[in-house]
Amino acid sequence: MQEESAEEQALQALFHFIETKGLRKTQERETVLRTIYNMKDKVSIEEILSKHQELFPKIHICRSTVYNCINILLEAHVINELKDKNSTVYCKVFGNRNLIELVCNSCRETQLAELKHIRSLLEHIGCADFQVHNYRVTLYGICAKCKMRMQ
Ligand SMILES: [Zn+2]
Repeated sequence: MQEESAEEQALQALFHFIETKGLRKTQERETVLRTIYNMKDKVSIEEILSKHQELFPKIHICRSTVYNCINILLEAHVINELKDKNSTVYCKVFGNRNLIELVCNSCRETQLAELKHIRSLLEHIGCADFQVHNYRVTLYGICAKCKMRMQ
């Protein structure tokens, strides 16, 4: 059996949330989600807007529509919000499961590394009555480039 893509998993989770909450299933909520899942990790509102235009040229959306959609997507736990210095960026919840994020404290560049050894530990962390659904592991430090520059 083929595993569903992160985009499809997120879409199903969103539809489930919309149904449970009795919200309207608008086209924009779906296309904004699809847009984010077709982008790199951490994206800003501006980046989402321009990518949306590129992917769905026939659907015109404005900034406030994107903000509204983002709020629903955050509530549905299909995306995460991160504050990075003075900006706010968004990232996928699904599809990053096996990755660990390495953030440089100096240049803020992010690298993704594979999360192997602590994965099962993370999934069983806590106690019996707390089931882990998703997580994001971030380590802060200094990247090779910055380290070279500092020496
Ligand atoms: Zn750096």
